[in-house]
Amino acid sequence: MVTPANPFGTHLCADPSEIVRIYSTSGTTGAPSYIPLTEGDVENWLIGSSRSYAASGVEPGQRIVSTYNAGPFVAGAALAAFERIGLVHIPVGTGNSALLVRAIETLKPEAVVLTPSYAAHLAESHDLRDSSVERVLVAGEPGGGEPAFRAKLEEGWGAKVTEAMGVGDIGPSLFGECEEQDGMHLGAHGLVHMEVIDPESGEALTLEDGVEGELVLTHLQHRAAPLLRFRTRDHVQVRTSPCTCGRGGPRIRCVGRTDDMLIVRGVNVFPSALREVVNTFAPEVSGHILVRPRSTGVKQEPPLPVSIELAPDREATDRLSEAIGAKLREELTVRAEIELVPFGALSRSEYKSKLVEPA
Ligand SMILES: [Zn+2]
Repeated sequence: MVTPANPFGTHLCADPSEIVRIYSTSGTTGAPSYIPLTEGDVENWLIGSSRSYAASGVEPGQRIVSTYNAGPFVAGAALAAFERIGLVHIPVGTGNSALLVRAIETLKPEAVVLTPSYAAHLAESHDLRDSSVERVLVAGEPGGGEPAFRAKLEEGWGAKVTEAMGVGDIGPSLFGECEEQDGMHLGAHGLVHMEVIDPESGEALTLEDGVEGELVLTHLQHRAAPLLRFRTRDHVQVRTSPCTCGRGGPRIRCVGRTDDMLIVRGVNVFPSALREVVNTFAPEVSGHILVRPRSTGVKQEPPLPVSIELAPDREATDRLSEAIGAKLREELTVRAEIELVPFGALSRSEYKSKLVEPA
């Protein structure tokens, strides 16, 4: 519990004199909270993040351009991981595309790290296919692992795309994908324990290939304010088949936030899953969608209104909207009311894309 006398909560375990840094969570599901860290906690975050980003195949001596700000949130703590890996770190910060493109052209980095939305936005607005960038590391929101979206990013950048993922309250970049691109390995193994639960019943699910549910994480070595069985509200799919990279343990792919989930006549629908199906219609569509629920709250009556942006120079046709509608019914059991909008009609984000416009 958080009180004015104890802003970290009653689970503060370390002596206040041991705290060396305090982050804030972005507070997506409530008031922001403070995350205190001891020197050892900072070091463990760095170890986990370094492993997660190193899984992508980046190598010491290579250059990486980062687009995150150090800022008040835990994601900023991952920036030090690039130097720990032995990379040459070139921070350009958020929202400065001109500086970023100039850094790519001038300093010829082998890698960049950014959100999948921003990676898509840059590939749309610049010709990056012949740049020096060989690896695009995406993190900060789900989407980088959606096959069609990933294929589009890889084509636009002429580079391999792998994703990483952190959880604000637990730590930055806890998971990272290897070159097999088949789900994210737990880079923070030994530091964080992972479970998957049924979000409705709370029951723990066996970590088997194909299992899907809410990710639950427990700090194993955190000292300042450790969390036990923290519900992340991230909905993940689990893969347990051996990975050819040799890393052990289950891998995950984040399907979406349980907060974004809508229930359309009893069927759970993640906006990111809608986008994944829509993206299979590339090159006719741009990859940008916006779900516009008619009523407030989670429960919705079909058809669910979805605006889908066309690719440049494509015209809206009944054939296309009917084909997308049929595929959404078939793959997700959801009936959608599709509106095809011209390229550029939906807003772009330099950080996280908005998939839902609340009623
Ligand atoms: Zn692997």
